[in-house]
Amino acid sequence: MRPEQSREFTQRLQKAALTLLALDIFRKPDDLARRFGLPIPVVRYWWRESEQQKKPIMQSDMTTKDVKIIRKATQALEGWEKIKRYRPECGAKLNNGRRCKLSVAIRPPEGWERGCLADRCRMHGGLSRRVRKVKKDDSKIID
Ligand SMILES: [Zn+2]
Repeated sequence: MRPEQSREFTQRLQKAALTLLALDIFRKPDDLARRFGLPIPVVRYWWRESEQQKKPIMQSDMTTKDVKIIRKATQALEGWEKIKRYRPECGAKLNNGRRCKLSVAIRPPEGWERGCLADRCRMHGGLSRRVRKVKKDDSKIID
């Protein structure tokens, strides 16, 4: 996953989370975080930074459109568990000429603005705060 894909994916999660919180499908950020296995501080931060306006929707008043919106948001958030479990390989070049097969790191909550997934494993700087320079011979093979 390229850095911009990681960022886009994370933004989709954020949007979906805020949709479900605004509609009061989940009352608190913590409830939503637990349901989808997301880091609680991340969801709290998203909500705090949003307008925090609840427009609760009653099950009985739901239109087909509402149902679709809710289903789509739920599916987006369910995608996180899968992404988390099947993270791409780090791919950093090793001394023996092979490439690192460890999964890329999941960033700590304060790093999610840059995307939930790093582009390297922990060993190869996936959790470093500064932007890693990509060497030419170290370029990753993706897609
Ligand atoms: Zn690695």
